[in-house]
Amino acid sequence: MQLTATSQAPVNERENSTVNNALKGKHVVITAGPTREALDPVRYISNYSSGKMGFAIAEACRDAGARVTLLTGPVNLPTPAGIERIDIVSARDLLAASERIVDDGCDVFIATAAVADYRAEQISDQKIKKTGDSLTLTLVKNPDIVSTISGHAKRPFMFGFAAETQSMENYARGKLAAKRLDMIACNDVSRSDIGFAADDNSMTVFFSDQIGLGAVNLAKASKNKIAEQLVQCLLHAGV
Ligand code: C5P
Repeated sequence: MQLTATSQAPVNERENSTVNNALKGKHVVITAGPTREALDPVRYISNYSSGKMGFAIAEACRDAGARVTLLTGPVNLPTPAGIERIDIVSARDLLAASERIVDDGCDVFIATAAVADYRAEQISDQKIKKTGDSLTLTLVKNPDIVSTISGHAKRPFMFGFAAETQSMENYARGKLAAKRLDMIACNDVSRSDIGFAADDNSMTVFFSDQIGLGAVNLAKASKNKIAEQLVQCLLHAGV
């Protein structure tokens, strides 16, 4: 496993050591997949997130000895062995489930879910009929789950993701600060060979100023390999 440093990166004594049991005793909570925001009984707003990255990280954390809870939106993936899975549908479901778990106590919160930014202001009880040539929907902003959890009294170590198509470092560092994260992994979703539904990924990881580890480039690899390297990044960051 190799972490490639772009600046004063956390490539040090732990790089070649095993991560076996490095997360033993830690409870890691991971959000994954898309959310679905209902419009009426048969329609919803969602996105193409497959959940693969979140599930791969869940397995990597389990393999490093952690107790893992996976909060997932609707995905076509089997539940990995030894992992507690909680299925959610909407962003508000995800927030409620996350807050419950964080209140009970967890050590690390990893937000890979592609949460819908907006939901319908009103969910129609009946199927919306096609009565006119156009239809106007009013959308309202969804809660930001990681930002909310970052503000909790029992704040776990917060690790978020950024999917960007341009100015990756600027946007990622902006989100790191705005969402009060400890660590953020950013990937370029303008590339079709990585990210979202792909099996491979490539990322750059940034850390908060308090952690002060610079940036780490993770070269294109399977999501499972990237997940193992992200666990190493967590360990380097002091989890
Ligand atoms: O703002 P943006 O959606 O790009 O931020 C991405 C990060 O924030 C991801 O870690 C995602 O899981 C998290 N997020 C969240 N709640 C939202 C939107 C994003 O937790 N409503």
